This record gives sequence, C-alpha cells and structure tokens, in this order.
Amino acid sequence: MMLPIIITIDGPAGTGKSSAASQLADRLGFDMLDTGAMYRAVALLAVEQQIDPHHESALAIAMDRATLDVDFSSRPPTILLDKRDVRDRIRDADVTSIVSLIASHHEVRVRLVKAQRQVALQHERLVTEGRDQGSVVFPDATVRVWLDARPEVRAHRRTEELRARGQRVDEKRVLAEIIERDASDRARAEGPLKQPIGSVSIDTSDLSFQNVVHELERLVRAKLHDSNVGCGCGGSA
Ligand code: C5P
Repeated sequence: MMLPIIITIDGPAGTGKSSAASQLADRLGFDMLDTGAMYRAVALLAVEQQIDPHHESALAIAMDRATLDVDFSSRPPTILLDKRDVRDRIRDADVTSIVSLIASHHEVRVRLVKAQRQVALQHERLVTEGRDQGSVVFPDATVRVWLDARPEVRAHRRTEELRARGQRVDEKRVLAEIIERDASDRARAEGPLKQPIGSVSIDTSDLSFQNVVHELERLVRAKLHDSNVGCGCGGSA
C-alpha cells in the first residue's frame, strides 16, 4: 500500500504559488489544491449575499448553507460555489479587497481547514498551496516549501497576470495592496502567514517561472528519494 504524499507550498501574495503548484502537480501526476481560492470563494459569498465581512457568525451561517466544491476533473481544478464555476470571479478587486479580513475569522478557518483535510483524505497525492498549509493544516506533510520574492517583483508579476486577464491595473496600487494583505495575513491570530519550521525556502525573485518549477520538482523528488517514499510519480526529474 502506498502512503499518502502531501507537498505544501506556502508564501506571501504574488510569489506564483498557484501556477508553480499546478505545474509541479502536473509533472508529478499529483492533484493540486489552491486554498486561496477557497477563502476567495467565501469572500465572494459575502459580496453576493451582502454580508458585512466583519460579521463572523453571519459568515459562518452562510457557509453552512452554501456548498463549496473543488472539481478535480479539470486541470488546474476549478472552484465551485453552489455548483457555479467562480474561478474568474474570485480574482476581481471587490473579492480581493476583503479576502484577508474574511480569512482572519476563526469560524471561517475551522470550516476551510476541515474541508482541506477532507480533500487530502480523498486525494492521496496532493500538492496544496496557501498560507498555513505546512504550519497548521498539514504539519506532517512529506515536503514543505516556503516560496518568497521581493515585494516589487511580486507586484510586477501580479500586475502582468491581471493585465493578461484584460484588467486595467496600476502596478503601484497592486504593490500597496500586496503589502497590506501580507501584513494582515501575518498579523492574524489563527493560521498566520509564516514560514513553517523545517520547511525549505526558495526565493523566486531572480528565477524564471520554469526554473522555479524545475527547482520544486528537483527538491520534491530528492526528498521522496531520501525518505524512501514510494512515490508512483509520473515522469522523471
Ligand atoms: O493565494 P491567494 O492570494 O488567492 O489568497 C487569498 C487570501 O486568502 C490570502 O491573502 C489570505 O488572506 C487567505 N488565505 C489564507 N490561508 C490560506 C490561503 C489563503 O488565509 N491557506
């Protein structure tokens, strides 16, 4: 019997975690979980139902009435809120501006952490990315990675990404938003943004995207080899 393998990738906004996690998962033949998309879906729920994002108990009630699913049949997987594909809508500015506040609530976090652990039970080869995956949700993960980059680099990447999606954005604003969101994510009491103890850190500031993916793959395969874990991974490094 093969043991479950979980690879966590955490780090601040704009380090390219989701794209890198998605490519890494493809190369290894693993599933991928974007936990930021889950928090964003809850923020969208608040926007759509006009719930005050400070109102924790109202958010909890709305979450318990709604369904939040990840459709693993598409690659990368798609986030579904009440069975609707919301993958693009959750990237809009109105959602982004409140997601950090939404994610600071205990009642929101307990529900999503439980859902993430449930996903891991059903997908035993998983690359999961977010802020607290290696520190809180899966502290015993097989490989835990911390991705970081200088704030200016992260703002530039995020700006390019949003422009590619057709959005008009000002890079200085994106930088300010990223700095503010990181500060809020670092300051919260529960599941704060911080490098998990024992994780491997990669600064992606001066690396191309392909080099980041390559480095992640090399690292994961080496760790799995060293710990003698039967991987069943696709391809080779
Ligand atoms: O990664 P992304 O930018 O989509 O994450 C959106 C927000 O969701 C983060 O700024 C953070 O507030 C929250 N988040 C979190 N814990 C995670 C993933 C995301 O609090 N594991």
